Amino acid sequence: MKKSSILVILLLFLVCAIFAQDLTYPKEVITKLTSKGFKGRGYVGKGDHIAAEYLRNEMEKTGVKPVGKDYYQKFNVSVNTFPGTMKVKINGESLVPGVDYLAEAGSPGVSGTFEIVQITRKDLGNRRILRSVLEKAKDAFLLVDNTDKTGESADQSKQLQEMVEAIKFSTEIDVRGVIVYSSDKLTWDAAPSLNPRPVLLVKKTLDLSKTTIIDIKIENEFIRKYETQNVVGMIEGSVKKDSFLVVTAHYDHLGMMGKDVFFPGANDNASGVAMMLTLAKYYSTNKPRYTMLFIALGAEELGILGAQAFVTHPPVELKKMCFLINLDLAGTGDEGIKVVNGSVYQEKFDLLSRLNKENNLLPKVDIRGAACISDHCLFYQKGVPCFYIYTLGGIAAYHDLDDKAETLPLTAFDNYSKLLIKFFDSF
Ligand SMILES: [Zn+2]
Repeated sequence: MKKSSILVILLLFLVCAIFAQDLTYPKEVITKLTSKGFKGRGYVGKGDHIAAEYLRNEMEKTGVKPVGKDYYQKFNVSVNTFPGTMKVKINGESLVPGVDYLAEAGSPGVSGTFEIVQITRKDLGNRRILRSVLEKAKDAFLLVDNTDKTGESADQSKQLQEMVEAIKFSTEIDVRGVIVYSSDKLTWDAAPSLNPRPVLLVKKTLDLSKTTIIDIKIENEFIRKYETQNVVGMIEGSVKKDSFLVVTAHYDHLGMMGKDVFFPGANDNASGVAMMLTLAKYYSTNKPRYTMLFIALGAEELGILGAQAFVTHPPVELKKMCFLINLDLAGTGDEGIKVVNGSVYQEKFDLLSRLNKENNLLPKVDIRGAACISDHCLFYQKGVPCFYIYTLGGIAAYHDLDDKAETLPLTAFDNYSKLLIKFFDSF
């Protein structure tokens, strides 16, 4: 090899080394949080406690000090769980939980063999047909064939979808259970309350002309008072000890549906927690001017309940929070980031955008107005200036079994963390 080509190779190697992301730590955090032992960070088998303990230990190792005596801020929630059997057979054929079907998060348990009575989505709009079908389905499972949406105007579509929701949840309707048969992606949720009847979302292809019988056993446990927690730590500032820059990320996810199926929640929100810990690691060796507060929030999926607990009994004064960034869905970034509250705090948004351009970090920093869709909202309502940032592009997995560590690209993770550091350091 010529000397010059060796030089070129060396140079290339150097360039790669400079631009390569060191994702060892965030990957380790995400792999851990999404592993089977963490049970989807929900309430079956105390997955939330397992995750909280891991985060407390990570904070401790990193040199993040507790706020309060042991990092934990405890609070109670109500939650519906599925700790036991999940068996569904339609016409004698078994359905795979999580893949072929989901039980609506608020479903009560049910056991037995039931007749299936069918109605099409279109017929939901016909009172006469609906009444007679409901009459027949009193002791049966009502299957709503939600597959055919052709020819619907936007208005009709909205009305029919409202009808589907009413069939699922209304207390005025008397059927034993509901099956919503659809080709849509299965998307799960978490529920703090119990629905009036079991509801299944079924995606497996069925021959509806022969679909008449369901064999079902679903065991639920509704827990009225379950103690969960936020995990709160800080790194003291060198100058403004009594003013806080805050990072929040919810660590809870949807937990388990039965004994075998757990929802890993890699992008939602092991990724945001990994970003928070990455920032904590950075500030443990690069002392911040302001005190950095790191809040791993619980029970977001149940209705931002960890954030509610925090702002109701804040362990530090909310008015001392100079700015808060809530991190959720931090695992892609192929198309940049979206900044909720960007137009509310326009000056700060412009700063973030400028820092991004100057340092050539992310493909786009996109603006959005206020939106009460995650934990930041409750801080915002209490007057804490804040952004909620999520990454754009990449995978579409969300609240399903595909949201896993192996396929989470972390495309822009490193540059995203650099941008956040530059932003916080500008205070
Ligand atoms: Zn989330």
